Amino acid sequence: MSYRPFERVGVAPVVVGALTLSWVALLMLCARAGQEGAVQLTSNLGLALIALAAGVAAVRRARDTRELRHFWLLLGAASLAWSAGQTVWTWYESVLGREVPFPSLADVGYLGLPPLAATALLCLPLAAPTLAGRLRAVLDGLIVALSLLLVSWIIVLGPVVNAGGDSMLAQTISLAYPVGDTVVITIVIFTWLRARQSARKLPVSLALVGGGLVSFAVADSGFVYLTTLSDYSSGSFIDIGWFAGFALLLVAASQVRSDNTVHIDEESFGNQLGTFLPYSAVLIAVTTSAIDVMRSGATDIFISWDRSALMVFLVARQVLTLRENMALTRNLEDRVQARTAELQSSRQRFAALVQHSSDVVTVIDHSGVITYQSESCLRVLGREATSMTGSSLWDYIAEDHAAALREVIASVSVEPLRLQTLHNSWLRPDGSECHLEVTVTNLLLNEDVEGLVLNSRDVTDRTALQEQLLHQAFHDSLTALFNRAMFKERLEHALTRRERHAASLAVLFLDLDGFKEVNDTLGHSAGDTLLIQVANRLLDLVRPSDTVARFGGDEFAILVEDLDDPAYTITLAQRVNTVLREAYDLGGTRVHLGVSVGIAHDADMAADAEQLLRNADLAMYQAKAAGEGGFAIYDPSMHAGLVERVRLEADLRKAIDDGGLAVHYQPLISMSTGRVTGVEALARWQHPERGPVSPVEFIPLAEATGLIRRLGLWVLREACAQTVEWQRSQPGLSELRLSVNVSPRQLDDENLAAVIAEVLVETGLHPEFLTLEMTESVLMSDSPSALVTLRELKAMGVRLAIDDFGTGYSSLSYLHRFPVDVLKIDRSFIEQLSLGGDTALVSTIVRLGHTMNLETVAEGIERPQEMLLLRRQGCTTGQGFHFSPALPPEELTLLLAERAPLRMIRGGDPA
Ligand code: C2E
Ligand code: CA
Ligand code: CA
Repeated sequence: MSYRPFERVGVAPVVVGALTLSWVALLMLCARAGQEGAVQLTSNLGLALIALAAGVAAVRRARDTRELRHFWLLLGAASLAWSAGQTVWTWYESVLGREVPFPSLADVGYLGLPPLAATALLCLPLAAPTLAGRLRAVLDGLIVALSLLLVSWIIVLGPVVNAGGDSMLAQTISLAYPVGDTVVITIVIFTWLRARQSARKLPVSLALVGGGLVSFAVADSGFVYLTTLSDYSSGSFIDIGWFAGFALLLVAASQVRSDNTVHIDEESFGNQLGTFLPYSAVLIAVTTSAIDVMRSGATDIFISWDRSALMVFLVARQVLTLRENMALTRNLEDRVQARTAELQSSRQRFAALVQHSSDVVTVIDHSGVITYQSESCLRVLGREATSMTGSSLWDYIAEDHAAALREVIASVSVEPLRLQTLHNSWLRPDGSECHLEVTVTNLLLNEDVEGLVLNSRDVTDRTALQEQLLHQAFHDSLTALFNRAMFKERLEHALTRRERHAASLAVLFLDLDGFKEVNDTLGHSAGDTLLIQVANRLLDLVRPSDTVARFGGDEFAILVEDLDDPAYTITLAQRVNTVLREAYDLGGTRVHLGVSVGIAHDADMAADAEQLLRNADLAMYQAKAAGEGGFAIYDPSMHAGLVERVRLEADLRKAIDDGGLAVHYQPLISMSTGRVTGVEALARWQHPERGPVSPVEFIPLAEATGLIRRLGLWVLREACAQTVEWQRSQPGLSELRLSVNVSPRQLDDENLAAVIAEVLVETGLHPEFLTLEMTESVLMSDSPSALVTLRELKAMGVRLAIDDFGTGYSSLSYLHRFPVDVLKIDRSFIEQLSLGGDTALVSTIVRLGHTMNLETVAEGIERPQEMLLLRRQGCTTGQGFHFSPALPPEELTLLLAERAPLRMIRGGDPA
């Protein structure tokens, strides 16, 4: 773009002023010199040239920009037409030096401007937003036009018409001028009104264009008026209006503004002016006509018609505005109503959420007074919400828990939106305590709440289960003695203490002789009673500082601390022998037992607890081998047994390599239908000389030597392939699941997930049918790579089961941290169901499974009543000898082919 002379509209008036002023100055110079002809020529030429310049600028603008092309073309044509008219005029007046004839060719040029300029304005793409808005713009335009017409009639048109005289053509042309001017002014105003309503910004200054046209039209009308009075000559002051008008158009056409910053200048006039414009036009018209009436004492017919029409349009405009206002008010009311309803419903929804949330929501003020209490407290605390509202929170907190809660509240109160969680005990009306996990949030500054919000969740069940499991984890459930885990911990503790105090210690390992016979002949419960009596006798004969534990089965151990006299252990072993050999009374039946005791002292170079226990174990075997009734003290030569172990390890390695292992499958049964839903793969080893070796023996060996990785992978591949075969060949078993055991050592392998994925692809088993069983210890491991592997497996779609659930160190927090799918309830819990032991524990676990949406599998179901109880409690799946032991694949194929529910009906279901 070659011309960009003005960046801001502020320059325009200066340019117009300068142009006009220099032209006026020239005129005045000529007039001062008394040069009548020069004045005429300056005026005529100046006007022709400025109109030509404006026309050319507008046409060039139309050529250079695509926007508003028609507008600029028409506007250019208007100026050029007028310039042509003016040239003709100049030709007559200044060149030929004679009076310009009327009408002449000049009039054609002059009269071309109004229709062309008006059409140009109407071409502007300004859309009023609404129908009513458009209608009002039209009405406003009409009102303004009629007012102007009225004024023009009184001042210009009337006298012209009344002057009469000339020919019809001359009179018509005389009238055409003021009418054209009125039309131009009206359309400028109309355009301005439209532009005010339009959201569109135009790349043209309507102030300049409109101002130019109005200036032109006013001068034009003045010319007609003066001509009527025969008072016009070229160079009259009227000419200034024309000149300024074209100068403004010239500036408007030359002005190129960057499109983004373009806006309609009219906005700066303010909306008020626009609103009142039609009224002021009417006011001026009415005033003019009043003065006219007073002056002439009469009103002509045109004026009264014009006035009547004005009235009609004014009323129409008023009605329109009124209607619009009404609609606006109605719309506003509707919106307020809708918003209120919306608020109401969201508040209700929130209240409903709080009310029906399983959490207890309590709001207290800074002094601890309850300002809101959700209904759920009835279910959780057994209290009515209304009874709590308004009272002090501290009436409901267990005494020894109040301090902790106060502390949390104090720390939360410090800062808005701060929150903190703690475990807390609240009181039920009967005085019992309810364990809650409470989250306190500071919403004191939130104007809807203005309080501290306590979100409390009932964790009584969870806490109780955790405590139970914790006890379970460290105690033998039958005898209430410590278990192996606790014993080991005590031993480790004693070993570190010993290092500091130089006190010595010893471990006695006991194994009962003849217990199995009692169990087999008199039954489990007799066996249990016997074990309890043994435990009590042991507790009676040790010192209070000694620790007695049951390691499972008929194995016990005693830890002797602060051992001053090494001979004490021998005395103790002998007393154990004497006391345990005394007769037991089992419901009238007297039985006798033997016992073998192994003793290991910490002086025997034992590096750690594990080794000390192994030493005692070795000594115990020695004692047993030596014959009944003895005890043996550990001696390093006993390690000969280790050789045996090393040989076994070599054999296992060979078995893995040469296919000496097999996989057996134990069915998993749906508790509701009795049908097989899955199988657990269990490794089997048939030793060439020793016969079958139990996994309980060779799996730990494989774990200790690292062989477990290859073993595990082999089992997985074998079992996946077998499962796919069953899925394809057995009707109705296309969704058969496979469970495979994974030992913690396998998770040390960072590639485990990838390896498993590969096996799945290789064998064609869909990941969702594979469940990996692992013990709690794996999930509680804080090794980040193990967690990553587990997450990868989950992401693949493989399911995870917690094996032997309940026997680990039972902080249940990992259940939340980690997405497991299945809980396998350990066999020891199931056993207790039919031994009259603790049944609540199993039902708590099943319930926990339900609330956490986990499948529960009961392991080791041996008796019908166990199955019935579990089924009643809602346990999902069962596994155990009651249904079937682990079978070689060929045998299981036969069983699966039967497709009958597995022993569900046996024993009947009382439920
Ligand atoms: P587990 O995973 O808890 O497997 C269940 C064990 O309980 C199996 O013993 C099974 O035969 C036995 N069982 C099933 N129903 C009953 C029942 O009603 N009563 C009784 N008393 N026992 C029942 P198994 O086959 O001797 O396996 C012992 C353990 O060896 C398994 O315990 C598992 O931890 C481990 N194991 C076996 N195969 C593999 C394997 O391929 N990889 C790994 N890492 N571990 C394995
Ligand atoms: Ca298992
Ligand atoms: Ca298990």
